[in-house]
Amino acid sequence: MAPVIATNETIVVVGGGISGMTAALEAAECGKQVVLVENTATLGGRTAILYRYFPKLCHPTCGLEINLRRLKASRDIRVLTLAEVTRITGTRGNFSVTVKRSPRYVNERCTACGACAEAVKTEVPNPWNYGLSKMKAAYLPHAMAYPQRYVIDPSIIGTPEADQAKAACKYGAVDLDMKEETIELQAGAVVWATGWKPYDAAKIQPYGYGRFANVVTSVEFERLADPHGPTGGKILRPSDGKEAKSVAFIQCAGSRDENHLRHCSRICCMASLKQTQYVREAYGDAAQSTVYYIDIRAIDRFEDFYAKVQKDQTVKFVKSKVARIAEDQATRDPVLHGVDTEGYHRYANRHDLVVLAIGMEPSVRGADIPAEVVEDSSGFIEPAADGAMVFGAGCATNALDVNRATQNATAAALRAIQVVNHVSRAES
Ligand SMILES: Cc1cc2nc3c(=O)[nH]c(=O)nc-3n(C[C@H](O)[C@H](O)[C@H](O)COP(=O)(O)OP(=O)(O)OC[C@H]3O[C@@H](n4cnc5c(N)ncnc54)[C@H](O)[C@@H]3O)c2cc1C
Ligand code: SF4
Ligand code: SF4
Repeated sequence: MAPVIATNETIVVVGGGISGMTAALEAAECGKQVVLVENTATLGGRTAILYRYFPKLCHPTCGLEINLRRLKASRDIRVLTLAEVTRITGTRGNFSVTVKRSPRYVNERCTACGACAEAVKTEVPNPWNYGLSKMKAAYLPHAMAYPQRYVIDPSIIGTPEADQAKAACKYGAVDLDMKEETIELQAGAVVWATGWKPYDAAKIQPYGYGRFANVVTSVEFERLADPHGPTGGKILRPSDGKEAKSVAFIQCAGSRDENHLRHCSRICCMASLKQTQYVREAYGDAAQSTVYYIDIRAIDRFEDFYAKVQKDQTVKFVKSKVARIAEDQATRDPVLHGVDTEGYHRYANRHDLVVLAIGMEPSVRGADIPAEVVEDSSGFIEPAADGAMVFGAGCATNALDVNRATQNATAAALRAIQVVNHVSRAES
């Protein structure tokens, strides 16, 4: 790898989702040197594994493609994937940053031809499908992956399969001698854009996630609807592969609950409204979506989308916090129990599939991050708190949709630029 040149006018951005990419691009397009550190094998974060975006229902390729084009055109951004920041010392304007980079075992000669994957039999869980499918141990993370370069999974290193992958590569791109590297950088400012993670649905015990096969989370449902996902885009029940035409969406699953996440995750009402349209797209007038909600939070221009979904004959709304889910053991149908608060009727409603509109938890919560940060009561980073070493950006700072996450990241980039401009003026 060419050495990473960094000075105390460099901005380090940690997290290569849409927010980190935006912060990096905005800073680089203002003439700053940026090092973008992502801990998986690809940029794009969780946005890249959504099927469609609300409210226009366009594919995430639109937004990401534009950013990737800008990134490829920039000479001022150095991207480090499979990399983590392990130490930050110093103060704003003068940091030393240590980055640990794991081996990909594939170098820049890779053409993404896929011959190494064909030569390998071992499969590993696919994290970009939330573990709903497996992938070969020589893999490209997903179709939109950047860099477009395969990875040899560490689990087969040292086995004959790794040698077979190497032998299959006509371009000399498989390098089984790659080792973990430690990279020391100087930086003037650090932007922390490590995003969010889905709340652990198994902790919401009455909903039976993990016990009942036909209870899935909203992030898993994105993958079920996606043609690149585990079912090739067919909305099928995990228990028996049957078409799931009657789908229940349970709102606030884990959010707005002192026992789980106290905050409103802000996007999950919109995500479920959007996902009712996936069911309609799959099954036309035979689709039956039921949204169980406390109140629907569709802010600003999203209100129009809510109004449009309300007019859809295939979508029904039940104002109720579902109390519990049981499973019909013969059919594996999930049966929802609760009280409809508009008529005060008790219900026991049977569906083919339940989708939990799972809350967004800050990825920094519970993580051991090597920087002093100020967190709010939900564990999100206060974006520019006094005394904090890093500037938070995107969903590391709050539960945000893509539009708001990128606006927030642009603001973080501006704060970082102000710091390095100050350094540069002080030194001239
Ligand atoms: C079910 C669902 C559907 C949604 N649908 C939509 C939609 O239709 N429209 C919309 O606008 N929004 C939608 N969202 C919200 C959208 O996913 C977020 O706005 C978006 O992911 C925010 O991007 P981000 O870059 O801030 O975070 P992330 O996407 O989480 O990216 C963070 C990146 O940081 C990396 N990272 C994490 N920790 C580290 C570390 N320690 N070191 C280095 N890198 C690290 C991660 O690997 C990742 O690449 C949806 C959310 C959910 C739950
Ligand atoms: S590593 Fe080699 S065989 Fe594998 S995709 Fe890249 S170029 Fe093709
Ligand atoms: S956005 Fe909707 S579903 Fe999500 S926590 Fe807020 S109210 Fe509940």
